[in-house]
Amino acid sequence: MTLFSKIIRREIPAKIIHEDEHCLAFHDIAPQAPQHVLVIPKKEIRSMAEARPEDQALLGHLMLTASKLARDMGVDEEGYRIVVNTNRAAGQTVFHLHLHLLAGRDLNWPPG
Ligand code: 5GP
Repeated sequence: MTLFSKIIRREIPAKIIHEDEHCLAFHDIAPQAPQHVLVIPKKEIRSMAEARPEDQALLGHLMLTASKLARDMGVDEEGYRIVVNTNRAAGQTVFHLHLHLLAGRDLNWPPG
């Protein structure tokens, strides 16, 4: 079981800001921006590389949840970034699919 599954099961504490039938959102423990939230599916999918056509609605739900949270946090007009690190070269460290929602500062492009 992944670290994030333990957060879903409340076996590890986290600052949870949203939960519904399909996903959970909580503050990143090591924020890379003034606002840094992770949005994760309750379904255990290791990475985007493992996502399949049957996950289409779930993936859309994660994106729309991140968008709604950004609106609720009041960062949507100024701007934010949604990132999904996938496997080694992208620096994925937790192998439970997650969206990073980053906001509150100017974000560089291209990313590092
Ligand atoms: P990745 O590098 O896999 O894209 O992102 C994993 C993220 O999970 C990192 O930003 C890291 O700070 C965060 N993280 C790792 N362990 C924990 C934890 O126990 N609690 C929370 N809230 N975030 C974590």
